[in-house]
Order: sequence, then C-alpha cells, then structure tokens
Amino acid sequence: MNTTELEKIKQKALEEHIPIIMDETLEVIEKYLSKNRPNRILEIGTAVGYSAICFTEFLAPGGIIDTIEREKERVEEAKINIKLAEVEDMVNIYEGDAIDILPTLNNKYDVVFIDAAKGKYPFFLKEALRMINKEGIIFADNILYKGYVMSDYNKHKQRTAVRNLREYIKEVSENPNLQTEILEVGDGLAVSKVE
Ligand code: SAH
Ligand code: MG
Repeated sequence: MNTTELEKIKQKALEEHIPIIMDETLEVIEKYLSKNRPNRILEIGTAVGYSAICFTEFLAPGGIIDTIEREKERVEEAKINIKLAEVEDMVNIYEGDAIDILPTLNNKYDVVFIDAAKGKYPFFLKEALRMINKEGIIFADNILYKGYVMSDYNKHKQRTAVRNLREYIKEVSENPNLQTEILEVGDGLAVSKVE
C-alpha cells in the first residue's frame, strides 16, 4: 500500500467534508484486525475508499474487501483512490444501494463494517448475520449519532435514524449469539462478536 497517497486521500476527504472514519474509531478496528487477519471483509458505505484502503493492510494473504456505495461520483473517486493506494487487487466495489446489493451476496465474511444510512442499520444487521462467519465480528459506526441515541431526544428530522440505531442496539444486545459492546469512541462504535 502507498501510505503517502493514503494520507493525501484522507486530507482531501476531510477538506471536502466526506464523513470518513474517525482516527480513534479506526484505531479500535485496526487493533482487532491486526490480531485476527481476516480473509474477507464486507463494508457497507465506501465513500471515497478511505476506510477500505486502511483495512487492506490487515488482510490475510489473498484476502478481499467487498464494499458497497450508492453514489456514483463517490464510487468513481473510490476507484481512483484504490488504484493510487495500490490496493486494487484487494478491494471490490459494488455500485448501488446496499438494500438491493446485500441480498445478492452470498459470501462468508470474517468482518462486517456497517457505515452507511443510519435508518437502515437493522436491515444491514440482518444481512450481516446471514453472511458472518462463526467467531467473526460486526462493527457499526456512528451508533451513538452525536449523542442523540442515548438521550431522550426524539423531536427532530433525524428521528427515523435515531429510532433505527436504537433498534440496532437492542437487537445486537438481545441476540444470544452475539457479545456486544457499545464504545464511545468517535461517533460511537458497536462491536458485536459472533460466538
Ligand atoms: N466507510 C467510509 C465512510 C462512509 S460514509 C470511510 O470511513 O472512509 C457513508 C457512505 O455510505 C456515503 O458515501 C453514502 O453515500 C453511503 N451510503 C449511505 N447509504 C447507503 C446505502 N443504502 N447503500 C449504499 N451506500 C450508502
Ligand atoms: Mg461513519
């Protein structure tokens, strides 16, 4: 991987207010990945490819990341970035809405990273659970959404997102096959280990 290019990609994304993963969130995920070296990762929400490029560093030899993005312009930029970072052998981008794409996938994943439309997290979870390997892990970013999720806040245009994030937390907490922690890093990260 070309780390000079990665740093440029990060700076450009920050300047353009693209919501890339926060440093402290990335640190938590990378710590897990470096210990577990996954063969296959599924990412929902590519944006311009920053997090996917970061994760390639921790793949097992021959490992692959599948990542889904619905905005055409972002897909184009992600493809360019993935080439610049010299990781194009390790990343597959699916262009389209994850709602349509996920049901067509039938791979087994060691890691799923959910980082897209907050109102769809319960659906993404259902699809992640269908494809996750035993002893795999599901991360969900922005799970505390600026603190709205844990407050009594519900009169806002974001209330559908908040309701669905709460539903996600409830489902992962009640699922007997998962061991879940909600971390207050960045915008909140749900970490669910599959038993
Ligand atoms: N994971 C990236 C950041 C993703 S930002 C990183 O850390 O570098 C969230 C992205 O999800 C946005 O680019 C948005 O267009 C995309 N997105 C939101 N809802 C989606 C959906 N239903 N299907 C596919 N992509 C979606
Ligand atoms: Mg995010």
